Amino acid sequence: MRRAAELLGDLLFPRRCPVCDRPVKPYGALICDECRDQLHPIDGPVCAKCGKPLEDPYAEYCADCRRLRHRYIRGCAVYTYRSISGAIYRFKFEGRAEYADFFGTVMAEKIREEFRNEPPDLIIPVPSSAERLRERGYNQAALLAEKISDLCGIPCRSDCLLRVKNTPFLRSLNALERQKKLKNAFIVPGSDVKSMRIMLTDDIYTTGSTIDACADQLLQAGAASVYFCTLAIGESHL
Ligand SMILES: [Zn+2]
Ligand SMILES: [Zn+2]
Repeated sequence: MRRAAELLGDLLFPRRCPVCDRPVKPYGALICDECRDQLHPIDGPVCAKCGKPLEDPYAEYCADCRRLRHRYIRGCAVYTYRSISGAIYRFKFEGRAEYADFFGTVMAEKIREEFRNEPPDLIIPVPSSAERLRERGYNQAALLAEKISDLCGIPCRSDCLLRVKNTPFLRSLNALERQKKLKNAFIVPGSDVKSMRIMLTDDIYTTGSTIDACADQLLQAGAASVYFCTLAIGESHL
């Protein structure tokens, strides 16, 4: 019976492809075969800290990480921002929560590959404010975290780190201005992160200010270490 309901649901609301936003071909896939080629996975030499592709392949760190001290240990991203920005926009602002199945799947693969020898204990999504949650109905970072948790078998918690201050319009600011805006934006309400190796998840990494602000609170609450995985990573912003 459940299967019949699922089939009916699929017929009425076919899964949409994150790239072309039309019903996915072939049926049952998470993304169209030909659309997948339009996304640019991060490969080749990357920054040892943030995982951003390097302009100078012999450098250890990107320009941002040479100038900024980060609170996290290291991180990784799946795609270049430019190749997936349209999909992320629809995922965040146009209700395409279903894209989380594909996005979470590729992020889980990335985490397995990058953290094979040191898997995290706990996955925590970068939280959104209550106000933003009411507006959108979901936190896109939490949808990603839940999917990754299912696929990697690592627990995921959305209640260990909360956002108490909304910080809109960060995109136009530089790293230092972002840092100032994000001060006191997050809190860790309990002691559940104590001694944990935490993997933060989010859709985009730009300067790392948001991940750093989260990591700072988690470390102050006793977390052993903080890492991140995002779906996309932008260019240097300094
Ligand atoms: Zn497509
Ligand atoms: Zn970097």
